This record gives sequence, structure tokens and C-alpha cells, in this order.
Amino acid sequence: MPVLIRGNEPGQFQMYWLRLAAGGIALFIFLINTMTPLRDAFAVLYVLVVLLIANTCGLRTIIITGCACIVLTFVSFLIKHFGEPFNGAYLRLAVSITAIGVATMLSVRDRRTRDALSEQVRMLAFTHDTVIVRDAEDTIIGWNDGATKLYGWRSDEAIGSKGAVLLHGRNISSRATEELQATGQWSGEITRKRRDGQWIVLDARWIARLDSSGRACGVIEFGADLTEQKQATAERERSEQQYSAIFQAVGFAIYEVDCSIINILAHDATGLSVDTLQKRLEQLSDKPYIRDANHAGAELAGQPTPRDMAGKSISALFIDQKVWIDILCSIVRGKIDYTVETTFTGPEGRQVDVVLRVTRPTADIGFRRILVMALDVTERNDVQMKLRAAHAELAHADRITTLGQLAVSIAHEVNQPLSAITTFANSGQRWLSRTPPNISEALACFDQIAANSSRAAEVITRVRALTTKETSFHTELDLGDLAKEVTLLLRQESAGKQVEIRTYYDPATSLVSGDRIQLQQIIMNVMMNAIQAMSAITDRARILEIHIKPALFPKTGALMSFQDTGPGFNSSTEADLFEPFVTTKAQGMGMGLSICREIACMHGGAIEAANHLPYGAVVTVTLPLPATSNDRPNDAIRS
Ligand code: ADP
Repeated sequence: MPVLIRGNEPGQFQMYWLRLAAGGIALFIFLINTMTPLRDAFAVLYVLVVLLIANTCGLRTIIITGCACIVLTFVSFLIKHFGEPFNGAYLRLAVSITAIGVATMLSVRDRRTRDALSEQVRMLAFTHDTVIVRDAEDTIIGWNDGATKLYGWRSDEAIGSKGAVLLHGRNISSRATEELQATGQWSGEITRKRRDGQWIVLDARWIARLDSSGRACGVIEFGADLTEQKQATAERERSEQQYSAIFQAVGFAIYEVDCSIINILAHDATGLSVDTLQKRLEQLSDKPYIRDANHAGAELAGQPTPRDMAGKSISALFIDQKVWIDILCSIVRGKIDYTVETTFTGPEGRQVDVVLRVTRPTADIGFRRILVMALDVTERNDVQMKLRAAHAELAHADRITTLGQLAVSIAHEVNQPLSAITTFANSGQRWLSRTPPNISEALACFDQIAANSSRAAEVITRVRALTTKETSFHTELDLGDLAKEVTLLLRQESAGKQVEIRTYYDPATSLVSGDRIQLQQIIMNVMMNAIQAMSAITDRARILEIHIKPALFPKTGALMSFQDTGPGFNSSTEADLFEPFVTTKAQGMGMGLSICREIACMHGGAIEAANHLPYGAVVTVTLPLPATSNDRPNDAIRS
């Protein structure tokens, strides 16, 4: 007979009628038993009432019904036989009460058994696992909801089908059947087909069904779907392999460090002062140990293989103790990432510059897997240092080149006072050779000779100062004075190109801290560029305006702007103006602005360039104030 694995309690409606019928029968028995002269043990029929109730109600109702039937029997007896001497009626009463009592007791026991059974049946019916019952001919005779959900066949479709045909069992070896026959059970993995054709893997357990004579007559199969679990395991294995491949192939050092020991500090880390936390971490700092490392990590630490790293303390091995404590401190306080550039002590005490990035991949595993990644930047730093040195050399070379370009105007500058000196010397001679000699005119000529000599000497001093490759020497400087000095040096150049130079500044706000020669170099490069750019202009006046005023943004200090009326910056080079070797000039080196930026940055300042509407270019230089500039008196504005 097919077995549907479901609870077999009557429905609500059915129960209602059965209870009503039981009540009717009880009333009927009571009336007959009380009203009619029948002398049989008619009350025994109350057993029927108890049985009906037992089939439809719970334990309490069965017991109450049994008791009620006994009471009714007793009441009927009293009505009919009260006061009678002991006779057959007493015996019938005893038989009836015994029958009702026994029926009630058996019903209670039966109810209990059925309750327990139906509980188990419900469990089987609603379990997520599949429960399939097959007979000796492999015909499916039981099929639970779990099986319907997993295979897609309804129980009425599955029941009656052959198991092998409906489910296409795979991976079921003959050993499984042999074991089932020998031991009465078997468990293992099997592959089955669902209604939609998809193959699924099951963790199956078979239990042999036995008939009343103990012979096998089929099998009960319990199965749990392993497909998702298998896929998840495969996926996990795949991602672990992927992780390990990346871990090894990534090209920079990675260490997986177990820092569980700092868990004990994690709870009250926020309540502790940094000093206290650091002190506590100092005691623990050598406890975190390396779980795993890649080849690059082992190489960086001077260990033959990653395996040799396992279990070692990262701080004892090569990270600076202080850096490591800072890292732990920030991680224990809840930071996910920490990046720092530091130095490792590599094999044989070799110092390796590294950018260290420490990260806590997932918070849910606490501090068990902290990833420490180290990128060796020693080579990069060396190259940067060499580049900086080369830049300094280039700056020097460029200064020489600039001075070469200026040689002509300097020669003119020197020529001009020299020829003035010659002229005044001749005049002086003439005034003295008169009779009587004109002493006052001769003295005036000597004054002019002295002034022009000083100017020539000043020009020569500038040339000597600019050609000397001095290191930065910061003093308090007045940008206005510097601008004037450079304007003087470029006078010949600007006059030759008909460029008018206008300087506006307030001495109270033109003081900066810097290296005189280097700042002169910025001013000279920017002014030379402007003069050269304007030489092609014919339709408007060639004017270079220099403004010096306080700067507030992006940096505070003094701001010096150079605004010309030239063609402005070429759009193709505008973005890279400050990069070395960017030039639009046939003879240009493209180093001027790059050096200017270098000098400005070295001074903690900045330089920017932009076009000015409707024409012209503006270059602005911001330089830091001297420390004592606030105390200086506020002079009148000069221009
Ligand atoms: P160089 O003067 O050797 O070309 P710089 O670095 O000093 O190198 O200048 C780079 C480029 O910036 C110049 O070639 C020029 O095209 C542009 N430039 C600089 N100053 C100005 C300016 N005032 N007006 C127009 N273009 C300028």
C-alpha cells in the first residue's frame, strides 16, 4: 500500500461530527439504560463513546469522557436500582465500569503512541532532507515534502514509479547494496537527477525495511542535498588557490601576521591614553607571529623560503620596533589600513627602504590575519636622490646658461659706467688744466666717476654671486629690493626690446625668508621669459608689471606676480610648463620654470602660471614670511 508521509489525523469538520455523534450515543445509552427495564449490561456500550472520542480528541478529553461515562453508568444504576439488595444489577454495574475504565486506559495509551508517531511523521514530512520509501521491487511507496522540493516531482507523481527510472541514481556501487543487505544500512554520497534534468549530489543514508518475519522488503532513503555545499567548497578552494597564486605572484613582500594577542587590548583601547597603550603594546610587540609569507617576503627578510618565516616575530625579524608599535596602536584603535615609509634591516644588516601598508582584511576574524605588505623602494629612492642631484646640476648649468645669455647686457651695463667714467675723467682733467683750475667742477666729475665705479662693481658682484654654486642660505629679504636689483641687471635687455618694467610693492609686506641668489634666479628667469615673449608684440605697449602683496591662499606669505602684455602661454605647453625640457623656443632649454618651481618648493612656497585676459601671461610666486615680519614698522607704499 502506498505510503504518503503525512499526519493522518481527521479533519476539523470530520472531528466535529464524530464528537457530536459520540455525545448523541452517550445520551442514547443513558436514556435506554435509565428509562427502560432492560436488565443487560447496556452501559458497556459507553465503550463506543470512549473509542469515538479517543479517535478525535486529545488526552484530557479522553480521560474526562471516560470518567463521565462511568458517572452516567453510576447515575443510571442509582435511579433504577437504589435501595435494592445485592443482585445481578451490581454485577452488571461492575462489568460496565470495568469495561469503560479499561477502554479509557487503552485509548489513553493509544493516543499517546499516536501522538508520538504523528510527531515523527510530521518531522519526516517537513524535514528539508528527502525521505523516500521503496519496496523490494524498487517501486517508490513513500515520498516526503523534502523530496518534492528537491527533485521537483510531486508525491502523487513519484509514488508508484521505479526509483532507478525516476531518479537516475549514479555513483551507487554494488557495495552499497551488499552493505545494506549485510548490515541493514548504508550511507554515502550519490548523484541523482532532478525533474529539470539537473544533477545533484546527495549525502544519502539507506535503512532496510523489514517485514513481519524480519525479511528485507525495501529501503528507506534519507538524503541531504550537498550540491550547494559542494559548489561552495569548490568555490572556496578556487578562491583560496587564487588568493595563494596572487599572494605568491604579486611581486612585493606580503606577510600574514597573527596579532590575536592584541585582542585583549582592543576593548579598552579607546579609553587608554596613547602613551599607556603604547607601553602595553611594547610588552606584547614581539608576540604577533608570521603565519605565512610569500617568496618576496622571505627574500626581503633574508630567509631561504616562506616556510622559514612561519612562527617568527615580525618585529624581532626586521621591522623597527617603534614603527611596529605605532602600527599596532593604530590597528588596535580600529584603523583598517596603515601606510608608512620606513626602513627594514635586511640580510647582513642591509638597510632597505620600504613603503609598508598594514591592513586588517576582515574585522570578523579579529586580529588573527593582519596583512603586512612591504614594497621595496630603495631603488626608487636612490633614483630620486640622483634625480635631485642631477636637477641641482642642471639648475646650476641653467644658471650659467642664463648668465651666458645675459653676458651681453652685463657687458653693456659695465660698458656704460666705464664710458661714463672715461668721459668724466676727461672733463675733470680739462677743469683742472684751466687757469685758474675749476676745483668745484673737477670735484663733481670725481663724484660721478666714483658713483659709476660702484655701479660697475655692483654688476660684477651680481655676476660672481650668480655663478657661485652656493647651498641655500636663508636670510630675511625684501622682494621689492630683489626685483629692483634684477631689473637693473636686465636694463639693457629690457631697453633693447622696448619693455617697460613697473614694480609695485609695500615694504611692510614684501619681506620674505629665502636665499638671495636663488630668489634672484626665479625673478630673473620669469622676467627674461616675459621680456622675450613680448619682443614679438608690435600692436601694443610692452609692459611688465611686478606686484608684491600679502598672500593668503593657497599659502600665506608674500605673493609676487609678473604680468606681461605678451601673447600668453601656448595652449599645447600650458599644462606642463613647470616640467623640465618643455619649451617653445628654438634655442630654449625648457629648464627655467622647472628650476623656479624647484626653488619655490624648497622655500616652502609655490609658483603658478596662467594666461591673462584679454592678453598676456601672469606668473605668481608665493614665498614664506620671515618669522619676525609681524614686528616690522609699516613704511609708506613705494612704487
Ligand atoms: P625656456 O625659456 O628655456 O623655454 P622655461 O621653462 O623658462 O624654458 O619656459 C618654458 C616655456 O614657457 C617657454 O618656452 C614659453 O613657451 C613659455 N613661457 C614662459 N614664460 C612665458 C610668458 N611670459 N609668456 C608666454 N610664454 C611663456
